[in-house]
Amino acid sequence: MLIKDKGICLRSTDYSDSSQILTFFTQQNGKVSLIAKGTKKPKSSFGGPIQLCGIGDMVFALKDEDKLGMLTEFNPTFFGTNTRKRLLALNCSLLAAEFLNLFTKEHDPHPAVFEDAKTFLERLENCSDAEILHWLTIFEFSILEQTGSTPICNGCSNCRRPLTNDWQDFFFSSTANGLLCRDCEGVFIDRKTITYNIAKHLNTPAELLSDKAAINQTQNLLLEYISHVLERPLKTAGMVLKLIK
Ligand SMILES: [Zn+2]
Repeated sequence: MLIKDKGICLRSTDYSDSSQILTFFTQQNGKVSLIAKGTKKPKSSFGGPIQLCGIGDMVFALKDEDKLGMLTEFNPTFFGTNTRKRLLALNCSLLAAEFLNLFTKEHDPHPAVFEDAKTFLERLENCSDAEILHWLTIFEFSILEQTGSTPICNGCSNCRRPLTNDWQDFFFSSTANGLLCRDCEGVFIDRKTITYNIAKHLNTPAELLSDKAAINQTQNLLLEYISHVLERPLKTAGMVLKLIK
């Protein structure tokens, strides 16, 4: 049976001289792995190899469990041409693809995550370089929220004391799953000292931060936290952190 859906290309591996094995995050069918035969042939009906983070209308057939399905049509609706020209935007789009791949399971649809990922890729394409990390933070929080992994930031994640500006010191720890107060920080060796501004920002990520150092530190904290949630290092995070250092 042929299935029509929209999908974002998350992974691509060459298969023979002319074909690709692709992982897509689709709107209605979740993550699917498909073989696309002949995409690299000069006169392919696909119009060329399918690019990472490209979005398009797809037609595919799924096989029995553990067998690769077959992609029969892919009509791109979004190429990310402008994103590819900018190193930070490009690496943030690859980071988004890695998140989607690691946070989702095959054939487990999350249409809201699909919409947020599509919006993020479109924002990367159109935003200024200064806005990239803001939209990345929003996307990270949306994916954490929708997978039930939001860090606890409205108070101490250990003793639950509510966050107020009366706190003298502020800390964040991935292993504690969020903020820590002064009384609890000593127990968590991975805790980082943060400012009140960052602690506040973790509660209201939609508000634009103007302090570049705070934006960068927030991203360092979030990427370390996401890696902790996923229980594995993120391949693409190192390059993003290097670019914003
Ligand atoms: Zn505490």
